[in-house]
Amino acid sequence: MSKYVYKFYNNNAEGGAKQKDLLGSKGANLAEMSNLGLPIPPGFTISTEASNYFFDNNQTLPNSLKQEVKKAIGELEKNLSKNFGDPKNPLLFSVRSGARESMPGMMDSILNLGLNDETVYGLEKFTSNKRFALDSYRRFIQMYGDIVLNIEHQRFEAVIDNRKRIVNKEEDRDLDEEDFEWIINAYKNTIERFSGEKFPQDPEIQLTNAISSVFNSWMNPRAQTYRKINNIPDTWGTGVTVQSMVFGNLNDNSGTGVAFTRNPSNGDKVLFGEYLINAQGEDVVAGLRTPFPITKEKEKKGKSLEEKMPDIYSEIEEMSKKLEDHYKDMQDIEFTIENGKLFLLQTREGKRSAEASIRIAVDMVEEKLINKKTALLRVKSSDIDNLLHPTIKPGSKKKLFGKGLNASPGAAKGVIAFSAESAEELSAKGLSVILVREETSPEDIQGMFSSRGIITTKGGMTSHAAVVARGMGRPCIVGAEELSIDNEKYTLSSKESTIEEGEYITIDGTTGEIFLGDLETIDTEPIDQYKTIMDWADEYRRLEIRANAETLLDTEKAINFGAEGIGLCRTEHMFFEGERIIFMREMIMAENKQGRKKALSKILEFQREDFIQLFNTLEGKPITVRFLDPPMHEFLPSGDIELKEVAESSGISFGYAKEKSIKLGESNPMLGHRGVRLAISYPEIYKMQARAVFEALIETNKKNKFSTNLEIMIPLVATGKELSIIKEDIQNTCKKVERENKTEIDYKLGTMIELPSAALRASEISEYADFFSYGTNDLTQTTLGLSRDDSGKFLDDYINENIFTNDPFASIDIEAVGKLVEIATKEGLKGNKKLKIGICGEHGGDPESIKFFEKIKLDYVSCSPYRIPIARLSAAQASIEQG
Ligand code: ADP
Ligand code: MG
Ligand code: MG
Repeated sequence: MSKYVYKFYNNNAEGGAKQKDLLGSKGANLAEMSNLGLPIPPGFTISTEASNYFFDNNQTLPNSLKQEVKKAIGELEKNLSKNFGDPKNPLLFSVRSGARESMPGMMDSILNLGLNDETVYGLEKFTSNKRFALDSYRRFIQMYGDIVLNIEHQRFEAVIDNRKRIVNKEEDRDLDEEDFEWIINAYKNTIERFSGEKFPQDPEIQLTNAISSVFNSWMNPRAQTYRKINNIPDTWGTGVTVQSMVFGNLNDNSGTGVAFTRNPSNGDKVLFGEYLINAQGEDVVAGLRTPFPITKEKEKKGKSLEEKMPDIYSEIEEMSKKLEDHYKDMQDIEFTIENGKLFLLQTREGKRSAEASIRIAVDMVEEKLINKKTALLRVKSSDIDNLLHPTIKPGSKKKLFGKGLNASPGAAKGVIAFSAESAEELSAKGLSVILVREETSPEDIQGMFSSRGIITTKGGMTSHAAVVARGMGRPCIVGAEELSIDNEKYTLSSKESTIEEGEYITIDGTTGEIFLGDLETIDTEPIDQYKTIMDWADEYRRLEIRANAETLLDTEKAINFGAEGIGLCRTEHMFFEGERIIFMREMIMAENKQGRKKALSKILEFQREDFIQLFNTLEGKPITVRFLDPPMHEFLPSGDIELKEVAESSGISFGYAKEKSIKLGESNPMLGHRGVRLAISYPEIYKMQARAVFEALIETNKKNKFSTNLEIMIPLVATGKELSIIKEDIQNTCKKVERENKTEIDYKLGTMIELPSAALRASEISEYADFFSYGTNDLTQTTLGLSRDDSGKFLDDYINENIFTNDPFASIDIEAVGKLVEIATKEGLKGNKKLKIGICGEHGGDPESIKFFEKIKLDYVSCSPYRIPIARLSAAQASIEQG
């Protein structure tokens, strides 16, 4: 016969904290606390196996359960010298829900079960408190009516309101015993009227029905939604805890409350919580009365539990120390005081803010409660993320304007601008700007950079705007589809209202919310403990951490965040910015090699200068410079007016410029004439870039003590032959520059692996490469045949259908893309034993992907500057977890 019932008495409980699967977290922790000798009202827990039986058998309870429950109650009766249903001294129960993971408030609990027309007077006699006994009875009828009989709670509230109105008309006073008797009668009528049955007087029937109803609450819509969001399977089921009642509403020497063993918002090591005098647990949660802080506070002098009941307060302090020593983590507890005696009713790991999470982890190491490894595993990467971004000042009056996807965290406020140009103009005037566009393109970079935050009305989490904003650390909301931009009137409209360019809004990129007006934001300067955690992370991680950065500002930021070098310096922007775009367009328009070289020689000067600055900032830390990657048409303007200007400045006819621009247009730029393919057709481009980096290197090294650690990276290679051709070009350029400057140049040459072909031909490619860097963005696109700009339209469906568990552009798709990475790593090392291998896609800053890169023992990951701290932590966690 299966066992469904597990008892817990003082120092004598069946099961414990480890059996959350079987007993649910509430039941398991009640058992654990009983065994620790803490004051827990005794009771028993019906296991989740019974819950599963219940749902497998048309919502019926197992036959043997009744006997088991009866036996357990018999033992409780002996233990407590009270009897269930005894009209003289009744034993009363709470019937509580509790799943493996706590689902706060999602399921139901019933209090004061066992009261009826007779036992209520037993309770009165035993406590000498009639008003209390009657109030407890009416509370029970109400909960039973609501939870077991599904009668809307408003019906019961209406009864009370009704009585209060009558009472107040006569005289202004609290409800008294007579009123409660009146209410109880009215409640019973309500039950009969709306359920068609009489309120059951038999405690055993009450209990059986309550147990079934609590099981049923596992399937209520609220709980189902919560499970879906939190990935909790339906198959877990809930436990039901039947526990003897203690009464916080007995008199003014009683009360109830909740307490965190440390402050959950800042991590302070002081008790933090709220309580109510003369109240039952439900009252604190219901919010009908305003609770007071348990710990002394200046503003609410004299009201705290610490001041009102100092002995109880220090008892709670002692117990919370005992709990922390035992659980080795911050706890969230429920307590009730019955006539001066303290009871604990629940404990669980307390939810906490980012700041609290980090402080508590570090403090607990100092207190020798946990070791550094445990501390590192406790901190979530989202904690690190949240800690470093500004937030809207708590308590601000917010007026919601719209909502989109929370693409890049943090808060920002500013005047809205509808084009990159006007964003630049407004910010040049000293205004904070929020750029609002349908979507963004590489041409908008400068405008995005000038803005404090970005909104797009289209696009998904990996759209251009989202990726770039995260990279820049700009708060960003994408896909705000309910908003519409009127590009003629320069207005932005939601369903309710319309605002104009230049009006203020505030965005919260952490939640995806857009608010009207200029809300106050506060900068979150990382707390000291943040640095400690990061130092520990560096101690335990194996992976090297580099940054994807190309501007000076980003490079400085990345180094501040702890990057050990640059893993991806995209050189595109060196062709875009300011005047360069003109020469770049000239180069593209040139009719022959001569013309191209002339234009390139001007770009060379700019690039050399850029590289010198970068090398100086890096002071010898490695930098992987990726040579030009995007297709040419991205550098050409789209409008005819601008194209005319280009034609004029390049000295060609408009007709020719137009023809060329149409020819260069690519409908699938991802797979077109780009990357190494450009250099195969126009070798002079990469030769120019090689000269720029080499000359910059010589110049930097001459003036400094350090020597620049240069790695040149060739994008979009598919075959060994391509790399061998480019390698020869670059070597020749190197020799030339060496001869001209009478010096030697030290550098490495490698390639991105971002095409399946490159992964499969890795051993052939690695013969010409010193390093590989997996460009997992393009590798994901090309392996899955999935364009990242279009995938937003249907990715949700794929995730809902469990075809993908995650967005493959956010977390690496291990089965296919990951397999190619593994093959390439193995094959690459075959061709070159010293090959250094890293990854520089968006996945480089994703905790789940980092676990995989640790597993296959890559040398480094490279990610955007703001992800560096997360990457450091995740790399440490991966290496600790994988031993
Ligand atoms: P939830 O999981 O929603 O918090 P609980 O099972 O913890 O639900 O119960 C709700 C409230 O009832 C809590 O505030 C708790 O303190 C109180 N409560 C539960 N059991 C008892 C009991 N045996 N005696 C007194 N109060 C109780
Ligand atoms: Mg609770
Ligand atoms: Mg690429």
